[in-house]
Amino acid sequence: MPVITFEGKRYECAPEETILEGLERQGVLLPSSCRAGSCQTCMMRAVSGEPTPESQQGIKDTLRVQGYFLACMCKPREDMEISLAATSEKRKAEVIEKRWMNEQVIRLRLKSEGFDYIPGQFINLVRAEDGLTRSYSLASVHEDGFLELHVKKVPDGRMSTWLCDVVEEGDELEFFGPAGDCFYVPGEPKRNLILAGTGTGLAPLYGIIRHALSLGHDGRIFLFHGSLATEGLYMVDELRALAKQHDNVQYIPCVLHGEPPAGGKHGAIDDLVVQTAREYMNGARAYLCGDPPLVEAMRKKCFLAGISTRDIYADAFTFVPQAEG
Ligand SMILES: Cc1cc2nc3c(=O)[nH]c(=O)nc-3n(C[C@H](O)[C@H](O)[C@H](O)COP(=O)(O)OP(=O)(O)OC[C@H]3O[C@@H](n4cnc5c(N)ncnc54)[C@H](O)[C@@H]3O)c2cc1C
Repeated sequence: MPVITFEGKRYECAPEETILEGLERQGVLLPSSCRAGSCQTCMMRAVSGEPTPESQQGIKDTLRVQGYFLACMCKPREDMEISLAATSEKRKAEVIEKRWMNEQVIRLRLKSEGFDYIPGQFINLVRAEDGLTRSYSLASVHEDGFLELHVKKVPDGRMSTWLCDVVEEGDELEFFGPAGDCFYVPGEPKRNLILAGTGTGLAPLYGIIRHALSLGHDGRIFLFHGSLATEGLYMVDELRALAKQHDNVQYIPCVLHGEPPAGGKHGAIDDLVVQTAREYMNGARAYLCGDPPLVEAMRKKCFLAGISTRDIYADAFTFVPQAEG
């Protein structure tokens, strides 16, 4: 069995066990969130020994060559010495505004000096008392002067319930990051953009669209926001106003049940995206965020409608099912 050395102590990893599982089994709490290789919360660095290729998928090349890997994806094949990633250095932020956007979603605005990110990336919030860590996408742009997060209150959700019900304006939060590659890529201002998200999947899209517009993007931009019912939508007025200010922007709220708001559509968002924007999709770039199965469904449909895989950027809000969590 491979032996993992971490902070001077040695831990055995059982066959088929990831480093994250192996260390947790032996009482070591590492930062982690999605446990599926998406959120990169559990990024670590191999000081010696080779991380497996699977554990380095999706990591920037510059980090990969330095031995960074994801502990949740690494079933070690040999002894390794590992350390926490420098990228998980914690920062502090003050909650300067907390506001309910609808019955389930809050907007948190945070002040954190000198933090650099690209709108649409995500940060990992840490609850200081127990180290609980979860990812939240950045809806802000630099000009805002604060970081903006949209958090959906998940029933029995440990972090989201704490953020929604306990955290108050003036409190200090810890976070690390940024991470993720779901952001606007400058340089092709005429390209069409398809932005589609469900629930708080709107957060990164709100950052991305404003970033693109601030850089003069003048290709068509479709912003689809999906919810089960109209009450689950939020920022409808702000997004309508944004579309009104920019001829190239179309905002389409989509609801599965009941009447959509004016200008919106009724149906499944993955179908509506293709039905509405098909003629603009060939060669377009797509940004898909939110509920994992819907992100996957939209990814397939966008691909079939002519968007190349490398032009599809997706942030599935993966979560740990209860049985494992
Ligand atoms: C890259 C990335 C970006 C993300 N960005 C955002 C964001 O901007 N806004 C946001 O609100 N969330 C976002 N998430 C999801 C977020 O990280 C948490 O998973 C979510 O807030 C639930 O955490 P929790 O601790 O409250 O729930 P947990 O305590 O982890 O889970 C409690 C129970 O709820 C279930 N559960 C957890 N999440 C969901 C869900 N979404 N739907 C249904 N059941 C669920 C679990 O299976 C479990 O049974 C993102 C996730 C990733 C990976």
